[in-house]
Formats: sequence, C-alpha cells, structure tokens
Amino acid sequence: MTIKSISAAEVLPTLRGKKVLLRCDLNVPLKDDGQGNRIITDDGRIQASLPTINQLLEAGAALVIVAHLGRPKGEVKAELSLAPIAKRLGELIKYPVHFASDVVGSSAQQAVKNLKSGEVVLLENVRFEAAETSKDDEQRKGFAAQLTAFADFYVGDGFGAVHRKHASVYEAALELPHAAGNLIAAEVEVLRKLTQSPQRPYGVVLGGAKVSDKIGVINNLLDKVNLLAIGGGMVFTFLAATGKEIGKSLVELESVPLVKELLARAAQLGVEVLLPTDVVVAPAFADASPTVVSADAIPADQMGLDIGPASAQSFAAGIKGCKTVFWNGPMGVFEFSNFAAGTRVIAQALTEVDGLSVVGGGDSAAAVRALGFSDDQFGYISTGGGASLEYLEGKELPGLTALNA
Ligand code: ADP
Ligand code: MG
Repeated sequence: MTIKSISAAEVLPTLRGKKVLLRCDLNVPLKDDGQGNRIITDDGRIQASLPTINQLLEAGAALVIVAHLGRPKGEVKAELSLAPIAKRLGELIKYPVHFASDVVGSSAQQAVKNLKSGEVVLLENVRFEAAETSKDDEQRKGFAAQLTAFADFYVGDGFGAVHRKHASVYEAALELPHAAGNLIAAEVEVLRKLTQSPQRPYGVVLGGAKVSDKIGVINNLLDKVNLLAIGGGMVFTFLAATGKEIGKSLVELESVPLVKELLARAAQLGVEVLLPTDVVVAPAFADASPTVVSADAIPADQMGLDIGPASAQSFAAGIKGCKTVFWNGPMGVFEFSNFAAGTRVIAQALTEVDGLSVVGGGDSAAAVRALGFSDDQFGYISTGGGASLEYLEGKELPGLTALNA
C-alpha cells in the first residue's frame, strides 16, 4: 500500500492558487495558567504538522485547516477552543494565520471567502459539530460536504485521527481529489517497518489510561510480538485478573475475563508478559508521600500511580534485549514528579535499544519531552497512539483507506 503524497511530482504544482482543505492533528495537551488562559504544554503535534503546512503554502495554496481538540462530544466547550493553537501556529510559520470562531458557520464562511494564496484559516474545533463523529453515515456525509465546499483539494495529514471514521477524516477525503501530507507519509513508512518483518525480539510496551481501548489491541498483537510489558493505569486490570487486590487503583472489572484469556493465550504462544512486581501507591494523585509496595500488597485505601523501581528495572532489561520496540502509554501519572520515575526509566531504556525504537501517543510523546529526552534519541516519535496501535494490529484505518481511494 503506497499512499500518494503531496510530495509526488504531479501534485504540488496543481495547487497554486487553489484552496486546500488540510486535516491536521493539532490535539496538543493544554493546561490552565490560573488566570483563565489555556497554555500549550507540548506543541509536538503542531511542530509535526509544519512541513506539510509550509510546503503547501510555498506552493501557493490557500489552506483551510481542520483539526480537533479533546472530546467535546458535539458541544461548544470554551476550554477546547482551537484559538490558542491558531496563535501558536501563527508564531511558528511566516504566513498569516486567521482563526474562524466556528467550523462551518458564518465566521468560517467569511474567512474562507477572504482567504488568499499563502494564507491559512484554522477552523474552530471540528468536534464541536456532532456530525463530525456521528455514527450515522448520512450525517457525516452531509457535514463533510459543508467542509469540502470550502476547497478544491483535500490533504490528509492528521495521523493521530486516521483510525476514526469521522467526517473530516474519511468522507471529506473521498469527496475531493486528495493526497496524503508528509506526516502521514512518514508515519506509515515507520509503521510499515514495524509490521513487515520486524527484527526480533520484538517488544511492545503499553501503559496509559485508555484501558478498554488498549486491552482490545493486545489481543491482536499477541501473535506478532515476543515481549509484552504492561504498566500505567491499565495494569491494575491485569493485576486484578491474576487475583491481586488493587485498592483504589484505576480498574475495569468487566475486562477481567478477557485479560485472563489474554494471559492464557500469551503463555500458549510463548510471549513473555511483564507485569509489575512492585507499585508506587498514594492515597491521591497529588499526594506528596508516595510509598513503594509489592504488587501483592496494595493497601485497600491507596491507588497505584506508577510501576515500582524493581519493575522499571526489569522492564528496562526486557526492552534493551529487543531489536524492535514500540511503546505507547506512560507507565504512571508522569504529570506529577512523584509518579514519573517508571516512565523515565522506560524512556531511557528505549534510547538504548540496539535497533528500532518507536514511541507513540500524544501523552507518551509529551512525557518523554517533559522528562528531558530529545526526539533524536528515539528511532521515531509517532504522533499517533491509538492510530499507531491499530495499524500495528493490522486493522484497516479509515483515514488511510480514503487517501488510497
Ligand atoms: P497516549 O496519549 O500516549 O496514548 P493515554 O492517553 O492512554 O496515552 O494515557 C496517558 C495518561 O495515562 C496520562 O495522563 C497518565 O497520567 C495516565 N496514567 C498513567 N498511569 C496511570 C495510573 N496508574 N493511574 C491513572 N492514570 C494513569
Ligand atoms: Mg492520550
């Protein structure tokens, strides 16, 4: 599967003077500065979008950028406005960046009408429109038509959203002549290396908070990998499945039967599964006095917020023994320094892999940067978490299918 990219010789020259609808992934972590302002804490996904944005603008296109932030579920939520992202984009490129205060309403229509070659308009958070993520094909199609009315050509570059059958990712791409941007092209190239004859041993390290999303993924990855190391919030469902008390830790009890099956299948397949043997616990996230306990002895009134030091060392040894490693999901609540040590040790181990190491996921990428690692210490930092995992599972990704059509 090769996707036609905008860098293909025949595409760019045709875009001079044209309006291009560009789907980007600008879903960056933000925090409140205490005075009601939203501050971007890691602009990695904006940075990763710049090569395509600049290339299209240099080629003389006018860009209508579509992107989402968080999960507003079809409602306008002020804290999920893309306004701070428009501002940051304006600082990062030398072309004018306008911001539309709605997605397809009068502000967007006016901004697109006035848009000139070499200029950008960023539309407001596309997920403020319920039709973007609707399960109803016709609703998505109708909304996509409103977006594509703004442009002559579609460029898909929002890799982090390609696993979603959403209007701006799927239907909009199908309705216009289209091509993939540089980020999607680069992401797919790396993931193809991981799926087509990866050097072995091949290890996958999973953590983070999206328990149910990721447990399904493990099922499909089991027969592809040699080593599976599990930490983060999802690990407590695994520990519960092995009969341990997990106190107040994040857990999904309804997934316990599935996890039991997974562990049995892993044993049959000879996949080495690493679960933490010690855990950092505290009564609350912000607690200043965490303690390390055995995974067999998590107190009933505490929650597990990081893997313990012995577990981190054993995960690191497993990782360093691999020739190919993919890691998605922080090992602990790294946003608090008390619970960042596990993630730091794992990140360090990935930098020491003698082979290909890939970090994927918005929070995972933000975590390695926040912990002081630089991008070039890893084989690749993917902007996609869920999207990368689904690619590795061998699933069809709607956003890529549409760009291939
Ligand atoms: P990614 O964006 O890299 O795919 P996720 O969104 O799945 O990762 O998960 C990231 C979040 O997981 C972080 O905000 C982190 O605080 C949280 N997390 C990690 N470990 C735990 C834990 N033990 N309990 C609760 N949350 C956790
Ligand atoms: Mg995340």
